[in-house]
Amino acid sequence: MEINHRGAQRLVQQLRAKGIKDDRVLKSFAEVSRELFVPSGLSHRAYSDSALPITGGQTISAPSTVAAMLQVLHLGPRDRVLEVGTGSGFQTALLTKIVADVYTIERNLKLVGEVKDRLIKAGCGTAHLRAGDGLKGWAEHSPYDAIIVSAGTDKLPVQLLDQLKTGGRMVIPLKGKITLVVKSRNGLRTRQLTDCQFVPLIPGYTP
Ligand code: SAH
Repeated sequence: MEINHRGAQRLVQQLRAKGIKDDRVLKSFAEVSRELFVPSGLSHRAYSDSALPITGGQTISAPSTVAAMLQVLHLGPRDRVLEVGTGSGFQTALLTKIVADVYTIERNLKLVGEVKDRLIKAGCGTAHLRAGDGLKGWAEHSPYDAIIVSAGTDKLPVQLLDQLKTGGRMVIPLKGKITLVVKSRNGLRTRQLTDCQFVPLIPGYTP
């Protein structure tokens, strides 16, 4: 499908106004039609900066939240990224425009099926997608340069940190705040960013 250039540019302008400066992140928003990732009845709100309901009582995050989380990871074109909580697949699509390898895990099987089609329609590169418990990560393809968790939790998922490179970054909604965790040789450094609201990270997976 053709990109809705007017809508995408409107979104990019809103993101700039909200302090997003990373060129790769802004460019990815210009290259993906968000309307493909929201329910058809809500396409008129696709380019507004708001979270919207999707399948299974889940939500597509607000664009400025997604952009802030991507920006803080300082992603580069050769990076390998793990995403936990694929949801609508919009952030997955953005990631395919920014980094080399995208691995994404979603526990809701219906969403997984929907995302495959959408990524093709949106003309995005390949993302490796699977249904499962993202809290366990995807060890075969680790270590990752960055991990992005798109559902909220009160406990730092230690298993995921094991799959992060030394020098790698993880961003996660932790105790109601977007939190950056940097793994260095000397241990973990965490930095709290803004307040946030996310659907909960649910452990376990039964197909
Ligand atoms: N960035 C996504 C956010 C989707 S909402 C978007 O903008 O569309 C968060 C998603 O995390 C939901 O789809 C939910 O099913 C999923 N989720 C929750 N716990 C999970 C887990 N343990 N493993 C994988 N996915 C999980």
